[in-house]
Amino acid sequence: MKIKTKLTFGVGSLFLMIFLLAALSGWYVYRLKKDTGNILTANYNTLRYAKNMLLALEDMPTKHAAFFSFENNLNQQRKNVTEPGEQQTTDVIAKHFKLLKSSPQDGRGISAIRREITLLMQQNMTAIADKSLVADRTAEQAILVISFAGALCFIIAFILLVNLPSNIADPIAKLTGSIRQIAGQNYKERLHLQNTGEFSELAKSFNTMAEKLEEYSESKLDKILKEKKRIEALVDNMHDPVIGLDEYGQIIFANEEASHITTLKKEQLIGRSAGIVSNENDLIKDIFKDLALASDQREKRPIKIYANGRESYFEKDIIDINILPTGESNPTFIGQVVILKNITTFKELDLAKTNFIGTVSHEFKTPIAAIQMGIQLLGNEQIGHLNPEQIGLLNGIKDDSDRLLKITGELLNMTQVESGAIQISLHETDVQPIIDYAVMANQFAADQKRIKFVLEMDPSINTVLADSEKTAWVLTNFLSNAVRYSYEDASIQIRVEKKESAIQFSVTDHGQGIEPKYLDKIFERYFRVPGSKKGGTGLGLSISKEFIEAQGGIIGVNSEYGAGSSFYFSLNAS
Ligand code: ADP
Repeated sequence: MKIKTKLTFGVGSLFLMIFLLAALSGWYVYRLKKDTGNILTANYNTLRYAKNMLLALEDMPTKHAAFFSFENNLNQQRKNVTEPGEQQTTDVIAKHFKLLKSSPQDGRGISAIRREITLLMQQNMTAIADKSLVADRTAEQAILVISFAGALCFIIAFILLVNLPSNIADPIAKLTGSIRQIAGQNYKERLHLQNTGEFSELAKSFNTMAEKLEEYSESKLDKILKEKKRIEALVDNMHDPVIGLDEYGQIIFANEEASHITTLKKEQLIGRSAGIVSNENDLIKDIFKDLALASDQREKRPIKIYANGRESYFEKDIIDINILPTGESNPTFIGQVVILKNITTFKELDLAKTNFIGTVSHEFKTPIAAIQMGIQLLGNEQIGHLNPEQIGLLNGIKDDSDRLLKITGELLNMTQVESGAIQISLHETDVQPIIDYAVMANQFAADQKRIKFVLEMDPSINTVLADSEKTAWVLTNFLSNAVRYSYEDASIQIRVEKKESAIQFSVTDHGQGIEPKYLDKIFERYFRVPGSKKGGTGLGLSISKEFIEAQGGIIGVNSEYGAGSSFYFSLNAS
């Protein structure tokens, strides 16, 4: 049955019951009123007239008004004849009264009238008793019928009260529960309502919706799985080793190449914590050691791995993955991907280039030395006089050959650094000879610009733990740069001071200084600040860095753009 029909039927039957009850009560009240009203008008009035007639009889025949009163009441009684036999009795009273009126002294007439009036009263009293009995019966019947109708109403109302709310509320509660299940992505949920009508329609629509959602979610899942497989295949087919980690450092994927170079099976990698795998495998330890560091603190040095039957070089790239969750404004870290780029070919080419530069610069050294020897001989007065123009040309050739020698020297050093062939011999070395060597090497250039070297050395410092040759080379390079980038008539401070357990050498000039944006680049190979004076290679500072770091020292620069620079390095005191 439809819910609307149910409601209409329920409320309608209640309404009908109330109406029936009211009609019945009204009907019985009306009947009772009619019964008692009958007694009042039909019998009570007759009794009143009879009583008045009896009283009038008492004064007869002496009082004339008594006749008038009697007649008056008799006339009223004639109009109020209601009971069987009452007409006859009234007529008899009227007949006797007529006789009495004509012969008032006849006493028999009065007693006859009294008898008849008593009969009339008797007749009406009997009627009153009968009617009261009828009224009683009506009242009893009313109580019975109304009670029955009331009980029926109560039963129907009770049945409706028990059934109707649950009939409506139960399916709604079931529907709410099922909607919650769907909201919780349980698309297998179905709604089963026994009722027919609107609720079964609702259940049918709900189930169709759930079925479609289930189909959709399955197809979506299928699509996601396909996408996942595609990405896995893509990662697997990459020639570079790739390892993915989640936000907790758990390995979530590793491609064939990664498993090949680490000699670990995929099962030994995937699903395991990076920390645990690192403890078992040194190569993995090397690969993962920078994971927790900030990207600018991670080591950039290539990793050497023995793979494919030869030594291979890999450049490690750790990518932090952050996503912006839907509806949020801050990105969330969800993991890292480690990619190892195979740079062996480049490394080999680089090595070939280094070897080539090394060979060439080495081969250049002998002819340059011969040229310098020739220049020296030519400048010798004993061999012959040179005119001023020839002397000028000879000086130009000397400067160029000096520069050439410096460049070949730097290139040779660089090839040594690049091939990892720097030989460092650390000894407790006197500081003074190092300074003297560097000053002497730059004195000529400084004199030309009238630049003075000012040495400020802590008198307590005598020795330093260093490779004297390499350290002197670095200080020479610092001084040569300082002279080159200082203005004429300037001064350059050479300071040697104690810094905790180290000895710091610094060269401070008052030249143009270096723009802050280039400060972290000037120690890179071949880097020259744009617009720098011509003639340099951009190798001096990078070689210096390698030389100092190879000795376990620290190198750096402080510079104020426009005011000068201060290059420093520190080495262990002993
Ligand atoms: P080079 O001097 O051969 O160009 P370096 O490696 O010695 O190479 O120096 C790299 C760059 O650093 C220079 O090109 C120059 O721009 C800058 N630089 C080095 N020393 C100074 C200095 N004392 N004052 C200003 N700039 C300097």
